[in-house]
Amino acid sequence: MGKIYFIDVTNRDGVQTAKLGLSKLEKTMMNIYLNELGVFQSEFGFPTTHHETLYLQANLELAEMGVLQPIRLAGWIRAIVSDVETTFKLVPNIKHLNISISTSDQMISGKFQGRKKREDVINDMVEALEAAKAHGAETVGVNAEDASRTDLDFLIKFGLAAKEHGADRLRYCDTLGYDNPFTIYQTTKALAENIGIPLEVHCHGDLGMAVANSLAGAKGAIDGGQDVYINTTVNGIGERAGNADLVAVILAVTKSKGFSEKYQLGKPIKLSKSWKIAKFAEYAFGVQIPINQPGVGANAFAHSSGIHADGVLKDPENYELYGYEELGRGDPVMVETGREIIAGQYSGISGFSHIMGKMEVSFSSREEASEILELVRYANVEAQKPLVEDELLFIAKYPKIAKKLLTLTPLE
Ligand SMILES: [Zn+2]
Repeated sequence: MGKIYFIDVTNRDGVQTAKLGLSKLEKTMMNIYLNELGVFQSEFGFPTTHHETLYLQANLELAEMGVLQPIRLAGWIRAIVSDVETTFKLVPNIKHLNISISTSDQMISGKFQGRKKREDVINDMVEALEAAKAHGAETVGVNAEDASRTDLDFLIKFGLAAKEHGADRLRYCDTLGYDNPFTIYQTTKALAENIGIPLEVHCHGDLGMAVANSLAGAKGAIDGGQDVYINTTVNGIGERAGNADLVAVILAVTKSKGFSEKYQLGKPIKLSKSWKIAKFAEYAFGVQIPINQPGVGANAFAHSSGIHADGVLKDPENYELYGYEELGRGDPVMVETGREIIAGQYSGISGFSHIMGKMEVSFSSREEASEILELVRYANVEAQKPLVEDELLFIAKYPKIAKKLLTLTPLE
């Protein structure tokens, strides 16, 4: 039986969302939280984009140091040889890639405007895949963009070519959120049976079905005999109506009626880290979690009507499918209601030492404290909001890595 894994794409699909973004330190924190949660792979950025270079290198260093382990860090590029070349020039240590190309006739005629035919799409993908393997990529996922509007026979042909040339997975992208659970099930089952490599399902929420489609797509892949890697983002942040929400998909896979009896996780997930990562993403993106969000919304465990309140007090299982503690909720949160000293881009050493002292961090010398403070100031300039405790602790613990994350050198 195939198993279910998670590939989170917040640091790629999430950050390319209009009007939203994350600082390099925030992206790094996201990778750390995803690792703690048990996510298989983080699509951690764009290796051909110059302002990502130092961030990507720094995160690969964290992986080598054992900090970002066992999570895999994978870059996203277009499936063209020049992108592969640039990737290995800028980020030589990168080991995992997803290479992407549009496969639907709509995109082939509408986007490539007659410059490419179906055969060219396969050839470009194969050339890029071979180049990536030749440069030493350990794993390569091949993404079929707009797969849900792609002719199935062509998609199988595309997938077979990818498999033949060493692809590790085929990503089925429902780029426009066009599928429904019935259609995606049939398609992923057919792809798994006819191609015979692990699949990724990448779903968007334009019709409100991203989570349901992810589940149905996963079922199709497993029924077709393959492992499946569900693509998610934290809080469902993503282009237009967003992607499949990480926590909601985990809940759906593990808690929905009868599903987990047959369709199981390939790697344990620490659901108790959900609350922390969701709240961090809320703060970092500056986008409030909807009140009715599954698991992490403010109302997810709120009961006020007489019958429900009475029922849940007698036995929570009367009106709750899962407990709030399972998601890491319920711990008291310290909120300062009196005097507050905050670290900012113009902070001084005394205020900063006070803040770090509260977190029980002490410095060996005034020089060391000044150096960390300087990094914190830079981090504030990039984020334009106060850092969270974990970010301050990260900077104090890994100053060299932090320095790399905060270094932007344009036009070099
Ligand atoms: Zn997407």
